[in-house]
Amino acid sequence: MKTNWMNKQVLVIGAARQGLALARFLASHGAIVTLNDGRPEQDLQSSKAQLTDLPIRWILGEHPLELLHETDLVCVSGGVPLNIPLIVAAKNKNIPLSNDSQIFMENVPCPVIGITGSAGKTTTTTLLGDIAHKAFAKDRKGWVGGNIGNPLINHVEEMTGNDLVILELSSFQLELMTISPNFAAIMNITPNHLDRHGTLEAYTSAKANILKHQTSNDCAILNRDDQGSFGLKHLVKGKLASFGFSPIPEDQVGSYVDNNAVWVTDHGKNEEICKLDEISLPGKHNISNVLAACAISQVAGVNVEAIRVAILEFKGVPHRLQFVRGWEGIRWINDSKATTPEGSMAAIQSFSDPIVLLLGGKDKNLPWENLLQLVNQKVDHVILFGDAAEKIHGYIKDMKFQHQKFTLDICNHLHEAVIRASKIANPGDIVLLSPGGTSYDEFNDFEERGEKFSSWVQQLR
Ligand code: ADP
Repeated sequence: MKTNWMNKQVLVIGAARQGLALARFLASHGAIVTLNDGRPEQDLQSSKAQLTDLPIRWILGEHPLELLHETDLVCVSGGVPLNIPLIVAAKNKNIPLSNDSQIFMENVPCPVIGITGSAGKTTTTTLLGDIAHKAFAKDRKGWVGGNIGNPLINHVEEMTGNDLVILELSSFQLELMTISPNFAAIMNITPNHLDRHGTLEAYTSAKANILKHQTSNDCAILNRDDQGSFGLKHLVKGKLASFGFSPIPEDQVGSYVDNNAVWVTDHGKNEEICKLDEISLPGKHNISNVLAACAISQVAGVNVEAIRVAILEFKGVPHRLQFVRGWEGIRWINDSKATTPEGSMAAIQSFSDPIVLLLGGKDKNLPWENLLQLVNQKVDHVILFGDAAEKIHGYIKDMKFQHQKFTLDICNHLHEAVIRASKIANPGDIVLLSPGGTSYDEFNDFEERGEKFSSWVQQLR
C-alpha cells in the first residue's frame, strides 16, 4: 500500500547510491528527511551536491542517537549493518525500519521479478534484462536494477502497469523487506556475508524473505541443483518452477539440460532454447545462470524465440570471467567480482587449460579449504597478493598437502602479481584474476580492481 509521506519524519542512514535516491523520492513526496552517514562531510561533497534542490537535513561523521527523536521511520541502506547502536536503539523504540527496495515495492505499478542468491545474481539479472528487451514491443518496457545500476526508485513514476521490473536483491536489502516480488528466484545459497549475518541460518532466512511474503498468485523459481535454494520449497505459497542440469519431473515447469542443449518444459510440453555450445560465457556456473534466466522468463510469459536470441547474443558482464587480452599466447582473464572462495572455485572449474591463479585481496573470514583443495587439483601456479596473502599461505601450510602440485609466489600488491604472472606463464596458459577476497585492501571496489588489472595487463610488452 502506498504511504502518504506528507510531513512524515524519515531518517535515511547511508548517503550512497540507494540512500541518495531514496532521500530524493521521500523529500519530493513531502517527507521531512534527515540523511545520516558515518563518513565525514569532506568525503560527501559530491553526494550533497546531488540533492541541493531539496530541503534535506544532513548529519555526517557520526550516528547520534538524538536523530531518533520524533522519527516516524528509519530507512537503512544496504551497506549499513543492522547492529550499529542507532539502529538497535530505533528497534528498541519500535520505530519501523525500511529501505529503498521496500519503498520501491510499495509503489511499483507492474509485475516484479526478484533475483537473489549467493552468486550469479547480476549475470542472471542482466541476461533477463536483455531477454525482456528482445521480447517486448515499444509499448512495454523491462526495467533492470536494484542491487545493480541505477536505483529504480528514481524511475518508479515513469513505470506503467504494462511494464516488467527485473530486480536484483541482496540479502541485506531482503532482511528488512515485508513485500515479496511476484516472481522470486533464488539462485543458490552458500556461505557468504557471514561477517554480517553471523550464521548461515540467519543468511538463509534473509534470502528466504524473497518468498515469505508471496501470495498464492505468485511464483517461486528455485535451483534443483542447490540444496540451499531448493531446500526452501516448503516456503513456496504459489506456483513453483525450477531450473537445473538435472532432469525435471514431467508434471513440473522449468528448465533443464538434455542432449547438450538447454530446454524449457511446461507440464510435459518441451521446447529447446539453444545448444550448450551456443552459449558464449565460460563455465558450468554460467550455464546455471542461463538455465535460471530461461525458467524465469518462461514463467513470466516471454516467448522462446526472444529467450534464445538474447542468450546467443549475451557476452556476459564486465569483471566476471571477462577476457582481457591474448599476450604471448597467454589468455588473461579478469574475474575481479569473484570476492568469495566459491566464486573462485566456479572460475577455476570453467577452464581446462593450465592456470596461473591470482588469489587474495581482503579476507571475509570465509573458509578457504575447499578452494585450496580444488587449486591443488587444477591450478599450476598460485600467486597470492594483498591483505589475505599471509592468511591463505597459512591455510596452505596447515593443509599439509601430501602432493602439493602447484608452485607458489607471494606478492604485496596486485600490480606486482601481474608482473610476476607475466614472467611465469607459458604460451597456452590462462592467467586468471579470481581473487576470492574483496578489493577493499587496495581498491575502492571490485570494478576499480578489475580495471587496474586490465590496464596493467594491456601494458605488458
Ligand atoms: P552476484 O551478483 O551474485 O555477485 P555475479 O553474476 O556478479 O553474481 O557473479 C559474480 C561471481 O560469482 C562470478 O565472477 C563467478 O565467479 C561467480 N558465479 C557467477 N554465477 C555463479 C553461479 N551460478 N554459481 C556459482 N558461482 C557463480
